[in-house]
Amino acid sequence: MSAKSISIERVSHTYHPAKGDPVIALSDVTLEVRDTEFMALLGPSGCGKSTLLYMIGGFLPVEEGAIKVGETPVTEPHPERGVVFQHFALFPWKTVLDNVLYGLEKNGVPKSERAARAQKYIDMVQLTGFEQSFPSQLSGGMKQRAAIARTLAVDPAILLMDEPFGALDAQTRTLMQDELRDIMRLTPKTVIFVTHDVQEAVRLADRVAVMSRRPGRIKEVVDLPNSHDESFRQSPQFLGMVDYLWGLIREEATAAQTEH
Ligand code: ADP
Ligand code: MG
Repeated sequence: MSAKSISIERVSHTYHPAKGDPVIALSDVTLEVRDTEFMALLGPSGCGKSTLLYMIGGFLPVEEGAIKVGETPVTEPHPERGVVFQHFALFPWKTVLDNVLYGLEKNGVPKSERAARAQKYIDMVQLTGFEQSFPSQLSGGMKQRAAIARTLAVDPAILLMDEPFGALDAQTRTLMQDELRDIMRLTPKTVIFVTHDVQEAVRLADRVAVMSRRPGRIKEVVDLPNSHDESFRQSPQFLGMVDYLWGLIREEATAAQTEH
């Protein structure tokens, strides 16, 4: 599938819990994500990042404002938008291969193509040899790679990732970040990658959208240099970007504390 732009126009969202007061999670969020762009969505905990991602995914209704993919309003989930959530969503009773095959079947890929496709993406996330393993036999990093393979195998034009590496140890996390950049080079997609980790955002993204404290709005969209190699990560420019973004997040986290 070819990649697509995402336009978020003046979107608000209020939760109405059965008990207690309504929670205004998002207020007037406007953001344009370009075709094949890697956008990191960065913000303090509870600012509405997951809420926004669920809405783009079509899992929560858009009641105020509009979200469009290309020219088409989002109304429900669609295979063109692949999602990877923070907590691995593999079927524990299926092997790695069967988990990936299931995603292909569910998304209408013809049976004759499924096996080769599944293998290609299992190889891509470097799980070759673990096709017949069950999730319980894999490390956390391997489970998350299997979940990513299942999503990528469907070849969605858009990839929505909600803190996908949040549960991984630091070393696996760095490896996965590098793998993700490599995968994007091979099969370009439009990506929205939610994180609260400033370094991760700068390592991965083309631009970073910083959200304010709840109710979440877009505070600032920051351009990053068009380079993600090791020399960039060692450069003063990288550290400068990290510092700058930390400053923005700190402002929000501090203000949120003094409000409560
Ligand atoms: P983030 O992902 O940035 O941590 P969320 O989008 O999960 O933030 O949540 C935004 C706000 O909405 C938080 O204050 C959270 O407690 C609240 N919230 C999330 N889901 C619900 C829900 N189902 N009912 C009520 N409040 C919710
Ligand atoms: Mg969240």
